[in-house]
Amino acid sequence: MKTIDDLGDLRGKRVLVRSDFNVPLDGTTITDDGRIRAALPTLKRLVEAGAKVIVTAHLGRPKGTVDPAFSLAPVAERLGELLGAPVTLAPDTIGDGAKAAAGELGDGQVLLLENIRFDARETSKDDAERDGLARELAGLADVFVSDGFGVVHRKQASVYDVAKVLPSAVGSLVQTEVEALRRATVEPERPYVVVLGGSKVSDKLGVIANLLTKADRLLIGGGMVFTFLAAQGYRVGNSLLEEDQIDTVKGYLATAADRGVQIVLPTDIVVAPEFKANSPATVVAADDMPADQIGLDIGPKAGDQFRAAILDAKTVVWNGPMGVFEFDAFAGGTKAVAQALVDATSRGAFTIVGGGDSAAAVRTLGFDEDGFSHISTGGGASLEFLEGKTLPGIDVLN
Ligand code: ADP
Ligand code: MG
Repeated sequence: MKTIDDLGDLRGKRVLVRSDFNVPLDGTTITDDGRIRAALPTLKRLVEAGAKVIVTAHLGRPKGTVDPAFSLAPVAERLGELLGAPVTLAPDTIGDGAKAAAGELGDGQVLLLENIRFDARETSKDDAERDGLARELAGLADVFVSDGFGVVHRKQASVYDVAKVLPSAVGSLVQTEVEALRRATVEPERPYVVVLGGSKVSDKLGVIANLLTKADRLLIGGGMVFTFLAAQGYRVGNSLLEEDQIDTVKGYLATAADRGVQIVLPTDIVVAPEFKANSPATVVAADDMPADQIGLDIGPKAGDQFRAAILDAKTVVWNGPMGVFEFDAFAGGTKAVAQALVDATSRGAFTIVGGGDSAAAVRTLGFDEDGFSHISTGGGASLEFLEGKTLPGIDVLN
């Protein structure tokens, strides 16, 4: 993989950068600027090198039409603040406005093109359509830097096709992410422990199947745990259950037993009658869940059990919250796992948090990001990496 260093002297060169600025918005207010911050190292570096920097990115799902609600204007403003120099927002994605603005750029200046998903060709399944947009983008620049880790698993014009047209390199964010995920997936230091949670088993089937060939221990929590408990013959009350996955999960349990992969399921569960923040919580045994209750978190004994299974690891990957951490009463399991990762890190383990909600959980529960070896910015991309898939946006750079 070529890096920015391999692109030579960039002074005066026009550099097209794909970043991931898909931040959560409340109206026009950015509620978490983590992704913009994550893009800074590459952008600062290009600015310092004296390049003319043209950034393309998407925000939300405007469905291929211009929709002002998805304008990148709030991002341009915040990016300017963080860079300490104004960032111009082009009036359009790749029209006359964008071309004129790109032409006026001085060395070390930054231009942000309007939301790339205003153009339906960006996500088209038709190769020729995507190629058409990619060539227009390429027409603005001399080289391409791929730095939007959250989108590298997408075969899209500004991620994949453009890299076939221009001399290309990875930016430092994508490079850091790929190095961290490789370290955890290609010959990981053992014991290799994976903690999986989140809402549904069906979202993570591919990941589980692949990890059964790699991990030493698989800890299961979150909403998906109830399908595992049901596969063991337990009743799970009104908890999230995917009945159509029970057989698949039985297959996983059998494979794990065959291969000597340890699957750790929680021994107790925090339940409540309703899916609500203030619904009265009680702790029950995982094999004795009341019929009229919903499992909303792993229990305190499970927290200790998971902690013990994490602490002696040399590599830990965690994806998916252990419970409905958005409600205080059901955040205990997620906190316990986060703390165990922090402690494992300080004992020398290499620890990764992947998944959008898991990363958000770590931040909102008040953990210091430095306590983990790596927090991935790309939910879907990191999952596909763990599945062992090749990511089109990375593959194309090789
Ligand atoms: P990530 O984005 O980290 O990959 P997911 O999107 O798979 O994670 O799942 C996150 C969601 O799972 C959270 O919103 C959380 O509330 C939900 N969740 C966790 N445990 C449960 C549960 N027991 N029942 C229902 N939802 C759950
Ligand atoms: Mg999620």
